[in-house]
Amino acid sequence: MDIAAFLIDIDGVLHVGDRPVNGARESLRALEERGYPYRFVSNTTRRSRRSLAERLQGLGFSIPENAIVTAPLAAVALMKERGWTRCFLLSTGDVHRDFEEAGITLSEDEADVVVVADAGEHFTYERMNAAFRLLAEGAALMALEKDRCWMGSGGLMLSAGPFVAALEYAAGTRAEVVGKPSREFFALALEQMDADFETTAMIGDDVATDIGGAQACGMQGILAKTGKYREDAVRNSGIVPDLVIDSIADITDHL
Ligand SMILES: [Mg+2]
Repeated sequence: MDIAAFLIDIDGVLHVGDRPVNGARESLRALEERGYPYRFVSNTTRRSRRSLAERLQGLGFSIPENAIVTAPLAAVALMKERGWTRCFLLSTGDVHRDFEEAGITLSEDEADVVVVADAGEHFTYERMNAAFRLLAEGAALMALEKDRCWMGSGGLMLSAGPFVAALEYAAGTRAEVVGKPSREFFALALEQMDADFETTAMIGDDVATDIGGAQACGMQGILAKTGKYREDAVRNSGIVPDLVIDSIADITDHL
């Protein structure tokens, strides 16, 4: 394969729940030794970039914070570009830190934009309704991801997508998706390593977001059969990955 650089998904590729994928660490080291640059692109919106790096460290990966590109950071960049300073954030964990540290005001009453992360148990009726009212008053809608589900330690979990779809339906609007598979998001990560779409491959476990998204931008899509991978989901997607590997541990066999 003609590949000069990699974008690598985190959840489902480097680890599944609290378990690191066997051989993942070694394969990252092997890529490095062979001179392939890579960046990590994650739609995991339950953590700030700093705490994501710390969690990966806890799982045995030494990945510097600045090698990780996340959707919250992409949202912050877009807000700054547009002069939006106030945001209603539907999220959980410490993802609010990425916004606060960038000088964004988090507000429940007045907002230029409603930003939807994977808020897990915080997707209550009350919070969803507050978001809906702001949208009805004219706030824009941004989704940090629109995945249907993700694979937790105990089974499949609803992701942000179904809740984004509910708000779109209620407010009669369309969300701007700023995480994967948005072209701007991938471009942000490529910029950092001076790579281009044509010679970059994306390794992921989500056939639609990772593989379909990468291919739509002209990248190669490599599907790892770990995490949320399911054979029937691939068949029904109509997407044909450029390569399917059992896990990221096998990537160097194909270079
Ligand atoms: Mg994944």
